[in-house]
Amino acid sequence: MKDPKYDISEGRKTLYYLGMALMAVGFLLFISVFFTMWSNPFGGPSSMGAAPIGFVLIILGSILRGIGAKGLAGSGVVLDPKQAREDLEPYTRAGGGMIKDALDETGLTRPDNYEPQVKLRCRSCRALNDEAARYCSQCGEEL
Ligand SMILES: [Zn+2]
Repeated sequence: MKDPKYDISEGRKTLYYLGMALMAVGFLLFISVFFTMWSNPFGGPSSMGAAPIGFVLIILGSILRGIGAKGLAGSGVVLDPKQAREDLEPYTRAGGGMIKDALDETGLTRPDNYEPQVKLRCRSCRALNDEAARYCSQCGEEL
């Protein structure tokens, strides 16, 4: 049995951050057009070229980011349901973990060290004693 996957590989992390950086650059390029248009309305069409380039960079960046986060199959670039499941495993595990955390919060699940205990009630003083005890810990009466 293989270990459960919680981590995303270094390569995919790099791709994720690369995509994010590309999106940021594209966004800056995209809005820079509006600033140059605003400060210099007669600047000519040369500055307008940056807008589509910025737009393409944003799209490209978001695709790269998706692949980095969810893997090739997970983001739908490669159609492979089995691989997609493996790529998305850190996410599904995180989801399952969150459900478990929520259940733990409600106290519905038992802690790992849970052990059922049988207690004996003393006939004379009503105190609870361990199953193995022969005499009451409160009054010393035989159980
Ligand atoms: Zn007792």
